[in-house]
Amino acid sequence: MSFDLAARLAARRAEHLYRQRPLLDSPQGPEVIVDGRPLLAFCSNDYLGLASHPEVICALQDGAARWGVGGGASHLVIGHSTPHHELEEALAAFTGRPRALLFSTGYMANLAAVTALVGQGDTVLEDRLNHASLLDAGLLSGARFSRYLHNDAASLAARQDKATGNTLVVTDGVFSMDGDLAELPALCAEAKRKGAWLMVDDAHGFGPLGAHGGGIVEHFGLGLDDVPVLVGTLGKAFGTAGAFVAGSEALIETLIQFARPYIYTTSQPPAVACATLKSLELLRTEGWRREHLNRLIARFRAGAAELGLTLMDSPTPIQPLVIGDSARAMEFSRLLREHGFLVGAIRPPTVPAGTARLRVTLSAAHSEEQVDRLLAALGECRVLLAPEGDA
Ligand code: PMP
Repeated sequence: MSFDLAARLAARRAEHLYRQRPLLDSPQGPEVIVDGRPLLAFCSNDYLGLASHPEVICALQDGAARWGVGGGASHLVIGHSTPHHELEEALAAFTGRPRALLFSTGYMANLAAVTALVGQGDTVLEDRLNHASLLDAGLLSGARFSRYLHNDAASLAARQDKATGNTLVVTDGVFSMDGDLAELPALCAEAKRKGAWLMVDDAHGFGPLGAHGGGIVEHFGLGLDDVPVLVGTLGKAFGTAGAFVAGSEALIETLIQFARPYIYTTSQPPAVACATLKSLELLRTEGWRREHLNRLIARFRAGAAELGLTLMDSPTPIQPLVIGDSARAMEFSRLLREHGFLVGAIRPPTVPAGTARLRVTLSAAHSEEQVDRLLAALGECRVLLAPEGDA
């Protein structure tokens, strides 16, 4: 027996699913240098343009000067420092919840919350389009794991009727590859019917959604009783790194006591928490970022519709153009790059087979003129790709 890695890699290439990492040689922003070339990027999750904000950079620098660079140890040993503590309090206040707990990544926050809440004999029910970290968490938990049809409360109900033990219903807030919103009021009512808990991962909603950037729960006006477990990530609209779980005092203490991905890992560098405190302040107070972003979203959707491009039903900065075939999606992305635009092609297994797409993302850092340039390039590349005009 041996590991035939070469054959495995060759098969991936043959299926047009081979992944390559573009090398970024500039800060995040609309204008980037990638693989040695200047490009206009429409693929970052820096939705509010905070990743390279001078005040956030300063907060990181000052934080490193004051608190050092490394977290040093896990939170329970000696890695929990004042900036972490202050950020947790600020995130609790921001989400209107009694407590928040900081994690180094969203992936770990999701593993932690699901595995600490359900285990053998329990049930975890997830939207079939949930982020990979939530699906992995469900599998790792050892609970009965089942996926309901996308955003379908009736499909959830059928599964709830067969559930055993404690039941956790888990959904993305904004679906990361489609950009649509979870139907939270309906999902929440269905979860409550059987006394299940609803967990929402709002990685892509915090920042762009809600009157104050409070994400999908603010958008729908839902509270702690509706969504007992709320996850946010800090590497997207917040522009920094890490994640948090917000909820009741008992929930947070349960995670501290039982969540292995929390207990057995080094805390994030405290300077990152200093930077996030600043970006949280900007996210809350600079409403013009959200307003500008919403104008760009409307402009892009109107322009794409005029070009006859097929968009998904997304009110968020995630505006995918579904192509279908992986090879065609790759070719479209390559042509765009030749025209000076970086837009990622997303292929299976990240998205279901036959739904490869260009994942266009917009940011408050883009200008209207840049969005118009993207639309013009999409029009030109589409013609090059499909002379009959079917994109
Ligand atoms: N949840 C969702 C919905 C995501 O899109 C992502 C990141 N792509 C994560 C969780 C993981 O967050 P992080 O990148 O901080 O690990």
